Amino acid sequence: MVQFETAARSESPSGSSASEDRKGRSSSKSSKHRDRSSKKRAHTDDSKALPINGGPVKAERRSSVSKPARDFRDKPEPSPKKKKRKTVATLPPVVDAAAESSTRSPSPVIDFDGLSRPSLGTRERLEESATQKEERMERMKGAVRTLLECVGEDPDREGLLATPERYAKAMLFFTKGYQENVRDIVNGAIFQEGHNEMVIVKDIEVFSMCEHHLVPFTGKMHIGYIPSNAVIGISKLPRIAELFARRLQIQERLTREVANAIMEVLKPQGVAVVMESSHLCMVMRGVEKTTTSTITSCVLGCFERKEKTRNEFLSLIGVNRR
Ligand SMILES: [Zn+2]
Repeated sequence: MVQFETAARSESPSGSSASEDRKGRSSSKSSKHRDRSSKKRAHTDDSKALPINGGPVKAERRSSVSKPARDFRDKPEPSPKKKKRKTVATLPPVVDAAAESSTRSPSPVIDFDGLSRPSLGTRERLEESATQKEERMERMKGAVRTLLECVGEDPDREGLLATPERYAKAMLFFTKGYQENVRDIVNGAIFQEGHNEMVIVKDIEVFSMCEHHLVPFTGKMHIGYIPSNAVIGISKLPRIAELFARRLQIQERLTREVANAIMEVLKPQGVAVVMESSHLCMVMRGVEKTTTSTITSCVLGCFERKEKTRNEFLSLIGVNRR
């Protein structure tokens, strides 16, 4: 070890070619297996030695930096797989098998035959017994009671007696989108009309929950698409927006998920989604800017490629005028 480090130090000013020569000589003397192992040792020793050196030749520094970087990049990749395997092992196998086998698309948002994503424990909730449902409700009620106690309230006073249950039920309604899937909502309402002009549904009211503060953000969503012959039942667009809004969200992701879902379910020439909303977490707390509205957009397909199409959509929904 010490010898290698000193060797690296002495070699580093003379350049990488010298070190390669030395490695080559040593490998030619030894067998192939030894050759590999010695190279590995040489690499690890280099990487260890170079930070100690402080100022090696630039070429050497690059290689030493890139080697551990590759390792760092490689390490996170296998670890999620391992984690997934672990979760597969811990979760009931039925859930994962069903989710994997029934997924027709690689979409991160839609699982056509199963449940929309993310769906942690969704299937268990849907298939739970009455007693399990009651147990879950009791846990939620307990959590709300704790919240009330922690803010200085008396959960046993008359006005608050039923609040834990009411809030638990309200919360389940705010997040009912986890239990829905796009296939059920669309329910075959796709019609081959040969229509290829822009379709816009604007001012769709959206109520969602900020995942960072668990308070609502509300606003309006505008959805436009250019069909590729097939059109979708016009009422389905607000329902798709509703599905993704009734989850814990951030506005950026909500906009993107709605666009991706329509793109995937309808396969149009393009989809554009714009959302303007007011975030209670910003209005009621934090910066307390009550008149701010946040606008997010996601354009796919021809809306992304053609500026003219995009501008037509923006002028039709009236976002450009302000
Ligand atoms: Zn927030």
